[in-house]
Amino acid sequence: MATINTSYQKLAAGYLFPEIGRRVREFQNARANADVLRLGIGDTTEPLTSTIVKGLQDAVAGLGTTDGYSGYGDSEGIPALREAIAAQYQKLGTPVHADEVFVSDGAKPDSANIQSIFGPDNVVAVQDPAYPVYVDSNVISGRTGEAANGCYEGLVYMPCTEDNGFFPELPKQKADLIYICSPNNPTGAVATHAQLKAFVDYARANQAIILFDSAYAAFITDPSLPRSIYEIEGATECAIEISSFSKSVGFTGVRLGWSIVPNALVAEGTSPGEIKGLWTRRQNTFFNGASNLVQAGGVAALSDPGLAEMQEQVSFYLENARIIREGVEGVGLTAFGGVNAPYVWMRTPPGVSSWEFFDKVLSECYVVGTPGAGFGPSGEGYFRLSAFGHRANIERAVESLRTRLKL
Ligand code: PLP
Repeated sequence: MATINTSYQKLAAGYLFPEIGRRVREFQNARANADVLRLGIGDTTEPLTSTIVKGLQDAVAGLGTTDGYSGYGDSEGIPALREAIAAQYQKLGTPVHADEVFVSDGAKPDSANIQSIFGPDNVVAVQDPAYPVYVDSNVISGRTGEAANGCYEGLVYMPCTEDNGFFPELPKQKADLIYICSPNNPTGAVATHAQLKAFVDYARANQAIILFDSAYAAFITDPSLPRSIYEIEGATECAIEISSFSKSVGFTGVRLGWSIVPNALVAEGTSPGEIKGLWTRRQNTFFNGASNLVQAGGVAALSDPGLAEMQEQVSFYLENARIIREGVEGVGLTAFGGVNAPYVWMRTPPGVSSWEFFDKVLSECYVVGTPGAGFGPSGEGYFRLSAFGHRANIERAVESLRTRLKL
């Protein structure tokens, strides 16, 4: 008799974004398809840049020729892309090499799959609030108990609050796998060198491993802030970095990301190279590599003209973030983030929960945001607006908040 993985039944509510989608559809059905302005999901809206389009077109044309055709490639990625990604890390002064780069179909799959190479008894620590995939993938894999009051038993929650500038203190209890996301989704906070160094020191002292999600690194404009965990000395021994082309060049639908699993990385009882070997084995077994066409688009994105266009696109979204942040501050809300990150995080009015505020903003202003509670217990009392959107829509949303939100 077949049985199911009952850990799925522990997953608290449905995944956050389907629930938001359900409420928006319900609202639209009740309001004769009201024109809602979506600043909820962090999905890119601006077209691919010309250098990327040309890279993709050339790759398609190449596949249509006998000489240019290629079939299966290495599951780790094509050498040109692995080298181009490593070159970006070397520009930051980090010791990352192409043989440590694993190209993938995105940071979400990698951040969900990476836990599979670690033992079931590892204690997992997450920033709270956090991108939901870190928690859910560990729930599904059986590393937690049941959920009670919004917290899974056995998981270490590291609160990110106004008091600590939305970056957590070191865990007081044992933690073996520590997820850190900077720039952070959802808070928009960016970790400093000193903050990351404290975690790297902790990880090295406790033989813990940091799973560092840098999907939004391209949005860091302040040169004093680290864009990679490998800017911190010793991080290659204790950190895996997961990143993405999704937000920097609009590949949310195209799909391309990467992970860095350093040769130097070690866990309890392993020697350098062993963990990288496990991830290689995992990818060779479960994954046949990212699309060769898409990888060609990635190579184009990392060319000099591609990088210049990436910078322009990132600046466009950051200008949206500035408009949103100033707009919400203008209506009297307290806002955070949105400076080196495409998310503006705001405190809900006193006594209004984050889902209540979600419903209020939707019904009064026709604007969709994301309730902070969907990202973890410490997200309660907060609300996120995403800066991904056409400028006109962002301006309409801010105007709607200004004129229609009843505070
Ligand atoms: N990591 C974080 C922190 C995210 O917010 C997201 C998407 O919203 C992702 C990863 C997903 O990246 P990808 O599109 O590469 O799967």
